[in-house]
Amino acid sequence: MKKIVVAGAGGFIGGHLVKELIKKGHIVRAVDLKPLNEWYQVSSDVDNLVLDLRLRENCYQAVNGYNEVFNLAADMGGMGFIENNKAACMISVLINTHLLLASKDCGIDRFFYASSACVYNGDKQTDPRNPGLKESDAYPALAEDGYGWEKLFSERMCRHFREDFGLTTRVARFHNVYGPSGTYDGGREKAPAAICRKVIEAGIAGKKEIVIWGDGLQTRSFMYIDDCIKGIQDIMYSNIEEPLNLGSSEMVSINQLVDIVEDIAGYKLNRIYDLKAPKGVRGRNSENTLIKKYLEWEPSVPLRKGIKKTYDWISEQVVEESRRKKRTNRFNK
Ligand code: NAD
Repeated sequence: MKKIVVAGAGGFIGGHLVKELIKKGHIVRAVDLKPLNEWYQVSSDVDNLVLDLRLRENCYQAVNGYNEVFNLAADMGGMGFIENNKAACMISVLINTHLLLASKDCGIDRFFYASSACVYNGDKQTDPRNPGLKESDAYPALAEDGYGWEKLFSERMCRHFREDFGLTTRVARFHNVYGPSGTYDGGREKAPAAICRKVIEAGIAGKKEIVIWGDGLQTRSFMYIDDCIKGIQDIMYSNIEEPLNLGSSEMVSINQLVDIVEDIAGYKLNRIYDLKAPKGVRGRNSENTLIKKYLEWEPSVPLRKGIKKTYDWISEQVVEESRRKKRTNRFNK
């Protein structure tokens, strides 16, 4: 049994990780900036702390007396958020820097950093038939402006804390993670959740159309949350010091993703393509040779199956929200 800090525990991936670590019998401290009632999942048998981890003293408070740190805290979102909030994304550098300093000074044994496929060189993502980004494709560096540069810098910070101070650090480059208990509206949601929500809302409102960002031909791969949670632990407890891809290599176009969601919903919508909306790189996929070779990790949840679970969860949230609005309207009349 270890004492483990999860930073960003009120978020999507952090919430799932906390649950898994408790299940394994660890003592967990869950930390997030958001008030507790806004966390996606709150576990009662955990030390839940609301702290702004951009502040150095809060990072010392968060890690003191614990053995390991998983840093999943970042000011982030889908393309719509990161393209319009570059400075905010870069300020997350304070979180990782101060957590590393506190971890070094407080004698933390292992430190995990959640990096992203957004570190990869944009010039290698211009073709929708992307064969997959290898770990070495991050250099020469031309990361996603703002968010991606912060991730790349923080990866290197982890490396140098390991080399210079002997802090054991591990880094995963996540490729689009999706699943229940995550962001599905409000502007920070990513493509799978956004498309599920739009299709569900169209069904409820009797609308016949859906707006797609870009021309729908851009490609991505999407990793289901359960595979991500296993991969995070596999990487954390491995002896692999360099950043590893953690993603699916089942690449689809956004149009194909919409096809899957419509198939689950049981109806088709007319697609309106918003070519001015943020759309990110043209083609992105995860190349998994290294993680397969070193850790025998492979995603186990096919996209269709994971999207079905996500769709069902978002559907419950949207229906509950529309009932709540109706109740409030009746009460206000
Ligand atoms: P999320 O937004 O759901 O969770 C991040 C959490 O960090 C949020 O709850 C937020 O409140 C918290 N946070 C932000 N600023 C903070 C601060 N100053 N102090 C304390 N907490 C703070 O995002 P997620 O999808 O769970 O992502 C987790 C990590 O994985 C992030 O670092 C993200 O950049 C990375 N990542 C995620 C994806 C993905 O597809 N979800 C892809 C690549 C990388």
